[in-house]
Amino acid sequence: MAKDEQEYTLIVVKPDGIKKSLTGNILTKLAEARLNIVAAKVLRVSRDLAENHYRHLKEKPFFKDVIDYIQGKPYGKNFERVMALVYKGEDAIRKVRVLAGATNPEEADSVSIRGAYGRITTRGVFENVVHASADPVDAEREIKLWFSPDEIVGDIYPSKKVQADIKEILVWE
Ligand code: UDP
Ligand code: MG
Repeated sequence: MAKDEQEYTLIVVKPDGIKKSLTGNILTKLAEARLNIVAAKVLRVSRDLAENHYRHLKEKPFFKDVIDYIQGKPYGKNFERVMALVYKGEDAIRKVRVLAGATNPEEADSVSIRGAYGRITTRGVFENVVHASADPVDAEREIKLWFSPDEIVGDIYPSKKVQADIKEILVWE
């Protein structure tokens, strides 16, 4: 990557981060990277989104556990949600991965998000509080999966206008 080139990265505060009330701590920690926030939302993760997001793990024995985890199934209805964010900046992907820490919370630097707040469950799942894109190819795929163009501030990837055939939408009563 050329110096000064802007990168984008997807961060997801996973359901254990929501349940432990860590969104504030995580945003504070991420501020150390001095990046620019360009998108944020709270959402329930559908099975489709979960399976697509983690499709590189499809053959792993822990795949079902990881899908249940990102959907918040082990934590009860109130915690079946995540906070998804897109940050922009120079070297954003690497900087956020450093602040997040290693995938295995026991191996993660103890002052990283995963090192400070993660754990390994009795089922052996790495409950590691946050997702962070691993490289530019993953980041683009993930951002396009989690967000539509109008949910992101600024031009990020090329987009186009299409005629949508909307049958029903929800409005305030
Ligand atoms: N995971 C796990 N056990 C493993 C590998 C991964 O529980 O041996 C979970 C963990 O929550 C991790 C997610 O699956 O964050 C996605 O795995 P990946 O290898 O993409 O790690 P990441 O990019 O999140 O560091
Ligand atoms: Mg990954």
